[in-house]
Amino acid sequence: MRQARHPRLLSVVVLALTFVALPVHARPGYVHLPPAHAGDLQPEAFQQRPELQLLPMDPATRWLQRRLPWPGIFEPIHPTDLQTVHLGGTTAQSLDLVLVADGFTEGERDAFFAAAAATSDAFLQWSPYSEYASLFNVYALFFASPQSGASHPSQGVYVDNAFGTTFDYGGVERLAVADDGKVLDAVGQAFPAFDIAVVVVNDPAYGGSGGAVPVVSRAPEAIAILRHELGHTLAHLADEYAAPYPGYPAGDSEPNVASLAHLDPLKWQAWVKPETPVPTQEASSTSLYTPVGAYEGARYVSVGVFRPAPNCLMRSLDMAFCPVCQEALIIAMHKSTSMLRSRLPGPAALVTCTLGQCPTFTVETAPIATLQLHWLRDGQEVAQGDSWTPGPNDVGDHTLTLQVRDATPAVLNDPDQALLEEAVWNLHVDATEPAPDPSVRAEDCGGCGGDVVANPAPAQTSAASGCQSGPTAAPAWPVGLVLAAWAARRKRA
Ligand SMILES: [Zn+2]
Repeated sequence: MRQARHPRLLSVVVLALTFVALPVHARPGYVHLPPAHAGDLQPEAFQQRPELQLLPMDPATRWLQRRLPWPGIFEPIHPTDLQTVHLGGTTAQSLDLVLVADGFTEGERDAFFAAAAATSDAFLQWSPYSEYASLFNVYALFFASPQSGASHPSQGVYVDNAFGTTFDYGGVERLAVADDGKVLDAVGQAFPAFDIAVVVVNDPAYGGSGGAVPVVSRAPEAIAILRHELGHTLAHLADEYAAPYPGYPAGDSEPNVASLAHLDPLKWQAWVKPETPVPTQEASSTSLYTPVGAYEGARYVSVGVFRPAPNCLMRSLDMAFCPVCQEALIIAMHKSTSMLRSRLPGPAALVTCTLGQCPTFTVETAPIATLQLHWLRDGQEVAQGDSWTPGPNDVGDHTLTLQVRDATPAVLNDPDQALLEEAVWNLHVDATEPAPDPSVRAEDCGGCGGDVVANPAPAQTSAASGCQSGPTAAPAWPVGLVLAAWAARRKRA
């Protein structure tokens, strides 16, 4: 990530979670309190588990609460406990996702790394994460648990695992949570530069949760939870489902919801075709995701808050992301990463060279299919592609800029230019020095061994012919080059 990252990302604390008792694929089932409202809670409550303040107390919750606070002290990990699952770039250039084991015993070490690899693959194969997989690094971090699996208090099953992951949280069977603070402590010690920690819990039951530390079980369908939850974490997307959540703060600050007062213009207006009425009736939809308009029902209310498309992964777990959520995710991924991977010459105050001996300016970029590279000399485009070499027209002092632009059609509105990166060099190119003519012997030169003289003869007739008397005896160099060299020397002086 380009700037100090995980404090910002992890400040996106999701404060309230619940499951809606519907079939697995019916809806994501997580309720999120946006960061803007984090200050509404008392600090003491926030430091504990704020969910406990917002959900009805039940035996499972009380059980979990009794186990707080966690010790938060970990032995130094073994080097093989942290393995790379997917490498997109350097830590500074990428989003670093750490998959953390819970409920895996020492004997289940290999099973964890296999589960982590499967989780990573399933996540990175989903659009738009798939197109930008090179912006992610995924690591698997193993901690041995004393016992295998996770707790299911409603079934009387209590498991002593490393991070306390338990189902039945808040009385909802499939809501599986770990102890965020304990996970963040452990990952922070093992991999301080991480951006997002995700618990992979060794339990075949469908379940998981979002929040500061998303949890995903080993049930194959549970991967959709992670895709959905990282929509919140990365792009601050709102849930688009309308199932009520009493007490949830009103608002529409997220990029994928708009209140009645904010329909004209919509924040996703660029996606709305002129012929699409706003608000938009679901009966007029032409596909699951089109046309983009303003469909009523989102953010836990059925009236007065609108979403961009008939459906979306932020509304239903078996869906893809709608175009507006895709756009927000792509922008968010770019803001936290770098498309530009290396540059030669490297950053320097000034690159000075002589024509014919100048370096080829070369960059390496992330393998994203929609990237376009443009070279600009003093603001004027001179080339495209991943390299450029100064030529005769480049003698003198210039500002050289490489623009890397993600020209994906999936982003129509990029007000902060998140999809543009630049590399800039200050460049000074000297004209070529006149080379001595090997056909001319020193004694032939007589008294002509002085300065180069501009030869008015055309270049094609000026093949050096030695030192001869008369006005044509001067070394034959293109006038422009000689003058440019003279001018360049004056400028440097
Ligand atoms: Zn959406």
